[in-house]
Amino acid sequence: MSDTVEQDTVASVHYTGTFVEGEEFDSSADNDPLVFLVGHGQMIPGFEQEVLGAKVGEKREFTLTPDRAYGERDDDAIQKIERSKFPESMELEVGMVVGAHSDQGPIQFTITEIDGDVVSADFNHQMAGKTLRFEVEVVEVRPASEEELAHGHVHGPGGHHH
Ligand code: ZN
Repeated sequence: MSDTVEQDTVASVHYTGTFVEGEEFDSSADNDPLVFLVGHGQMIPGFEQEVLGAKVGEKREFTLTPDRAYGERDDDAIQKIERSKFPESMELEVGMVVGAHSDQGPIQFTITEIDGDVVSADFNHQMAGKTLRFEVEVVEVRPASEEELAHGHVHGPGGHHH
């Protein structure tokens, strides 16, 4: 039924995410609900698994270890980049998050060290290695359209407009 979160539905949820230490990292509370196409890799795997089968109005709380969230940290994902590869006008600082283009599309890295002309760039996701707690409330569920299924993402409110 379309009041239940399942494969090929579009789910709208309110959620609050906290680190295990209790600090909140993200919440939809003051915004529109998060809208996603279920079963098409739009969400971190554990999030989807935990809300599958939930009905409209249902609240769920769960904890995701890194393997079910953003993955473990990988020390090999730290690369040395020459300073000259960055725009000269760009002020580089440790802790800065830089967006770049790759063959696989846009990527982000965090500058972890600047040693003369060598910049250490950490390509791990900023949430890698973290255990995350979520509180989720299902607000709305509807069947996905043929077009949404073909595109692999949601159209309309909360989704793509194209
Ligand atoms: Zn589309």
